[in-house]
Amino acid sequence: MNLLDLESLHTSGLYTKRPIAIVRGEGARLWDSDGNEYLDCVGGQGAANLGHGNPAVAEAIAAQARALISCPEMFYNDKRAQLMERLVGLAPAGLTRVYLCNSGTEAVEAAFKFAWAATRRRGIVAAMRGFHGRTMGALSATWEKKYREPFEPLVSGFRHIPYNDLAALEAAVGDQTAAVILEVVQGEGGVRPGAPEFLLGAQRLCRERGALLIVDEVQTGFGRTGAMFACQHYGLQPDLLCLAKSLAGGLPMGAVLFGERVGLLPAQIHGSTFGGNPLACAASLAAMDYLEAHHLADHAAELGAWFLARLRQIQSPLIREVRGLGLMVGIELRQKATPYLQALMRQGVLALPAGLTVLRFLPPLVVTQAQLARAADAVEQVLAQPARETAMADF
Ligand SMILES: *Cc1c(COP(=O)(O)O)cnc(C)c1O
Repeated sequence: MNLLDLESLHTSGLYTKRPIAIVRGEGARLWDSDGNEYLDCVGGQGAANLGHGNPAVAEAIAAQARALISCPEMFYNDKRAQLMERLVGLAPAGLTRVYLCNSGTEAVEAAFKFAWAATRRRGIVAAMRGFHGRTMGALSATWEKKYREPFEPLVSGFRHIPYNDLAALEAAVGDQTAAVILEVVQGEGGVRPGAPEFLLGAQRLCRERGALLIVDEVQTGFGRTGAMFACQHYGLQPDLLCLAKSLAGGLPMGAVLFGERVGLLPAQIHGSTFGGNPLACAASLAAMDYLEAHHLADHAAELGAWFLARLRQIQSPLIREVRGLGLMVGIELRQKATPYLQALMRQGVLALPAGLTVLRFLPPLVVTQAQLARAADAVEQVLAQPARETAMADF
């Protein structure tokens, strides 16, 4: 039986899948089981900032696997201690404590619990088009109806305001608001950068009204937007910072960094078996070293600006807007994105949707300008031809 049939036989059904089996990667390139090469602008949905087959990360994982994989946080551990120090050093000032978990949604879930515990309030204000994950707390903050509706009623106390609307936020944050949660650039919601006055206004409102600011940098973190964290473009100082995706060079890992407005948490109120395991910590330390030594955030800033400018030159009545920050780039179309993603794949370029009409590009940050030029040429070509749509609904 071929690979696609075998996986189809047992897959959960949750994913709309593309009909290729990816078996190997190197840098920003991927290969399928038939040996076809692709330029990867999916980037593991943001988990592959360091590039596929990164030798530094691979070696750290192999060495740590031989030394120690499991070590719950009831014990101290060398790699964990070093990673905590490292993350605090990289993050915006004032975030001095670290909770380690295994995914983005877990980081968001934990941040809510910490905010509830620290403020003794239960309200959370989130943004329309925001995406924060799919476990019940994180899902309650997520906006998209198709993710939420099958599981309602969700956790109570959540409300949504339009992103970049400071007046609406001002009206929503009250004396029962525990936290405001925001992405710095909305990812799944269509690649929408935050306005500085909105994000800094949210920070000011939270401080004035005794609420905490949770910034979700699960997608924007680790060089993606041209700074180590997107907060740093704005001088934003969150009370809690949620991280995951590229935190451990592609291995599953999440984290919440927090500061003195949260304080040391009460023992036992939260935890995770795998959280802070030495394997992920060692991978993350190697990833942080690599990001810094290779100046990948600066590379993302330069190449991202070049890529945006190149895409903006494309003359096509199909394009509504090209926007982004660093190597987080979206092209909003006047039509559904799916057929154009399929056409790009036929040209050997893998990209993502963000909502119905946005083509999203999240290449590994080790991508070269020549590779991005090829991606832009492919976009130009597919937008010049009427799209053919095949069977896949949402891709
Ligand atoms: C992907 C994502 C999440 C969820 O991360 P998972 O690891 O899939 O649970 C949360 N927030 C943002 C901004 C994301 O992009």
